[in-house]
Amino acid sequence: MSQSALTSIEAFARAKLAELSAHSLQRTLVATRRSGVRAERAGRNLISFCDNDYLGLSQHPAVRRAAAQAALNHGVGAGGSRLVAGEHPLYRVLETRLAGRKRMPAARVFGSGYLANLGTIPVLAGSGDLIVMDERAHACMHAGARLSGAEVRRFRHNDARDAARQLSGRAADRRALLLTETVFSMDGDLAPLRELGELADESGAWLMTDDAHGFGVVERDNPAPLQMGTLSKAVGGYGGYVCGPAALIELLASRARSLVYTTALPPPVLAAALAALDVMDTEPSRGQRAIAHARRFAMSAGLMEPQSPIVPVIIGDAERALRASEALRAHGLLVPAIRPPTVAEGSARLRVSFSAAHRTVDVERLAQALARWRREEGR
Ligand SMILES: *Cc1c(COP(=O)(O)O)cnc(C)c1O
Repeated sequence: MSQSALTSIEAFARAKLAELSAHSLQRTLVATRRSGVRAERAGRNLISFCDNDYLGLSQHPAVRRAAAQAALNHGVGAGGSRLVAGEHPLYRVLETRLAGRKRMPAARVFGSGYLANLGTIPVLAGSGDLIVMDERAHACMHAGARLSGAEVRRFRHNDARDAARQLSGRAADRRALLLTETVFSMDGDLAPLRELGELADESGAWLMTDDAHGFGVVERDNPAPLQMGTLSKAVGGYGGYVCGPAALIELLASRARSLVYTTALPPPVLAAALAALDVMDTEPSRGQRAIAHARRFAMSAGLMEPQSPIVPVIIGDAERALRASEALRAHGLLVPAIRPPTVAEGSARLRVSFSAAHRTVDVERLAQALARWRREEGR
């Protein structure tokens, strides 16, 4: 191994890290054990408001049992790509189930939500085409759009009229894809799906929605013919999916590179998703519980009524957001500070997410601790 190359890479990375750190933008990985909404970190027990496990299904006994049984029956790895090694029969079962729940013609499961967007968008649009997306759409939609080689334009957040302007005047033979999230990951607000659906119809664009934070929690009528989502949030496990017309779903197996050239999900992951969907069907009120917690918290904190289990507490400055997060941690509450580039410059925040697994006392403790921090900071 070349010593000088090691040294120069080390120096390069150190300089990058110092730059991030100077702007309070360095991120670190912290060992944390989860058990429901309890988190153990550095020997301390905390209540977590960090997870996207909105229904608490990552810890559900029936889901755990299904995964454990699948590991015992089928092993822990898929052995290869679905296309080369052949796919586990649970894939077909899960895809049929997802399509049914979403009331869509067909579904394709991917390794994650990120991989679903990364693989699907370039199948739908390419060089010469146009992608018009909400400016706050998730990083993986941006990544898929850039990878596609299409021209990418952003519209003002949730502004269908601005989206219309971006779509207008394009040549008739140019395909256009209109992208948004159903529930925005960092703001918790909802996209105007009906308006965007109408716009897509009028302008001949294809609407594709990212339902990562909606599925199982905030389920609305959705006119989009292309609906992706994840199995890693409310479903509690791991994986992603895309729903759409049957021929497109078929095409993804040939053309979506993030499906073709990657190893299939392990059987326990597929079994866990199916068991979680069972719980979602039999206990449909879990999502309402998470939203009720969010509303209770927002009310005590004097924030706008949330539409989802995600409540942003906007702080502004990145360093201050980190301080707020630390102050809450000192009270035994784990709430992440979200900084640029995940959110816009000057809009650093606490992102509080609620789960059906929280208790009302947890929610009240958080509201009180936040109020104390605000008093101490003099605002
Ligand atoms: C989390 C998230 C994804 C990625 O899903 P994973 O399964 O975690 O890869 C995609 N889109 C949005 C909006 C998300 O919040």
